Amino acid sequence: ASESLPAVASAEAASDSNAATEEEPLVIAHLFPDLLNLYGDGGNVTVLAYRARKRGIPVEVRRVEHGQTCDLSAADIVFLGGGPDREQRLASEELLRMRDDLARFVEGDGVLLAICGGYQILGREWLLGEDSVEGLGIVDMTTVRAEGGSGNRLIDNVILSSPVAKRPVVGYENHAGRTHLGEEVRPFGTVTSTVGHGNNDDDKADGVLHRNVLGTYLHGPLLSKNPEVADWLLARALERRAGRTGTPAADLAPLDDGAELELGSVVKVKLTQVLLGGNASLVQVAEFRLGELRFANVLVAKLDSLITVFFAGLLLSDHAGTGLDNGDRDHMALFVEDLRHANFSADDCFHV
Ligand code: GLN
Repeated sequence: ASESLPAVASAEAASDSNAATEEEPLVIAHLFPDLLNLYGDGGNVTVLAYRARKRGIPVEVRRVEHGQTCDLSAADIVFLGGGPDREQRLASEELLRMRDDLARFVEGDGVLLAICGGYQILGREWLLGEDSVEGLGIVDMTTVRAEGGSGNRLIDNVILSSPVAKRPVVGYENHAGRTHLGEEVRPFGTVTSTVGHGNNDDDKADGVLHRNVLGTYLHGPLLSKNPEVADWLLARALERRAGRTGTPAADLAPLDDGAELELGSVVKVKLTQVLLGGNASLVQVAEFRLGELRFANVLVAKLDSLITVFFAGLLLSDHAGTGLDNGDRDHMALFVEDLRHANFSADDCFHV
């Protein structure tokens, strides 16, 4: 139903010329970033492009704005972010017009990453107040609201165990919708943290994995904190492209993910603190490789131009066991900076 993708990212594509001698660029279509982009979601596209280019794979990012159409047959990866109710509804109208193309893309093993509001739209329907809004029906699932409507939200940091990553997957959720998967549908991961919910109040599971579709409630942005998930998506996209062109998929050489992994560890420490009512011990901190205060400086230096970080106070109480106080819980024993990723692609994201 569509003609061409707008070439908004032409300057970006041109800068790949070194790597792109003959190779066609990997095309990432970012659908409706003007409507669906909460808590740094758009940063996921930045991470995918960055990690592909680091391996010498040329990338073209195509932003498809509200009112534009898009030829998905030229896309390797489609990205949908989350959105407030009003914007989500507008985006969903646009997406319904693209339903056949999107379904074909998914059934042809196209890679689709959808976060929160964008994820909800993939289901059969989602509720907005009293209204039931038709979804794309690409995944067998529905999303409803709990009593209290949009004010009754699931908001927290979350840790998942997911088949697509060896390490725990960390992120942040903030949604009113409660999603229920059909019986045959696999979640993206099971919730292993005591705080955080994922799909709904009961299941202790988050998101969906269907063919090469990854839907999740985790903002964060997901991929900057979980590089394994980014590489899983890239690998699926390259495999599919290799299958179509008959050329072998490019290898995803390992990258130095030290900074990204430490980023995830900060969330785990914060969750440990919640879990223990503020009594996280140094043993637990060390487990997450956060024992040294100089960590903060290393992290900032390593993240460099990709992510700007902001540190505020997070007190681990006397029981942190630094030997700096007498255990009466009146003193600051250990100060661990609380990571926030402000200014990631100019998005507002004041949470860990
Ligand atoms: N508006 C949706 C909800 O509240 C999605 C929110 C989001 O994308 N964070 O459920």
